[in-house]
Amino acid sequence: MMGAGPARGALVLVGTPIGNLADLSPRAVDALAGADLICCEDTRRTGRLLQHAGIDRPALRTVNDHTEVRAVADVVRRVASGERVAVVSDAGMPGISDPGERLVRAVIAEGHAVEVVPGPSAVVAALVVSGLPAGRFVFEGFLPRKGSARSSRLDALAAERRTAVLYEAPHRLARTLVDLVDARGGERRVALARELTKLHEEVWRGTLAEAVVWAGDREPPGELVVVLEGAPEAPDADDPAIEAELRRALAAGVSARDAAAEVARSLGVAKRRAYALVTDLDPEGEAG
Ligand code: SAM
Repeated sequence: MMGAGPARGALVLVGTPIGNLADLSPRAVDALAGADLICCEDTRRTGRLLQHAGIDRPALRTVNDHTEVRAVADVVRRVASGERVAVVSDAGMPGISDPGERLVRAVIAEGHAVEVVPGPSAVVAALVVSGLPAGRFVFEGFLPRKGSARSSRLDALAAERRTAVLYEAPHRLARTLVDLVDARGGERRVALARELTKLHEEVWRGTLAEAVVWAGDREPPGELVVVLEGAPEAPDADDPAIEAELRRALAAGVSARDAAAEVARSLGVAKRRAYALVTDLDPEGEAG
């Protein structure tokens, strides 16, 4: 269906505010008021939003990371039988670092309708307010917390040309900024968009190295999004060019591991690639 008129039997993804309740759209209110069931992460939180919108006695069901898989069959059955099932998350757009995606896929797979009532999302809000190029960007969500999953995502970010948008928990911000400096160097520009649409909204802008100082001086700064400038548009360094730089660093007495990190940073190539090359040049050097 191309128009906005309600079809019977649909899964309806509804965007909700990321802080300021006035951002709840009239269309979102209609969609929630007209739903036979509202799937939400937290019934108390969504209950407060519905109360604010004047929606009485809605049927709510908890669908969070733990329960989404179990909810799928029932939601598909309801949509198939002609019900309108709304999906909201605690804030912003469902399916963006929040539950919803599995429901969408299952409903599509069974040939039923999925509709969207777009609303605020921290990724887009932070990107456009950052002042960094928004023409092409990548959304990273939350970085993996540790291990090789984290380091390979950091490596990929080091080489990424597009502006990158990351979500981060306040108490992990300082650590993540240090890891980003390690992977990408301190000169890259960054914006930290915190408490968007709320009373203490603030957008800090500077370099990654300055951001480490900013974050280190502060209490955990509330909900925030990290927006990172992409890697400079330089032609990719080829292997001989990387090896030449690695030889220069090794000859200056730098350890293989530090040489790889330094060269990855200065040439804007993935650390993993520099490590592989330095290991060939200096097999005893324990670069990895
Ligand atoms: N579904 C949401 C959306 O569309 O933006 C994102 C949910 S995710 C679980 C929560 C993360 O979004 C937070 O850790 C923070 O990175 C970001 N976030 C949400 N609200 C925010 C706000 N008002 N200001 C800054 N960041 C926010």
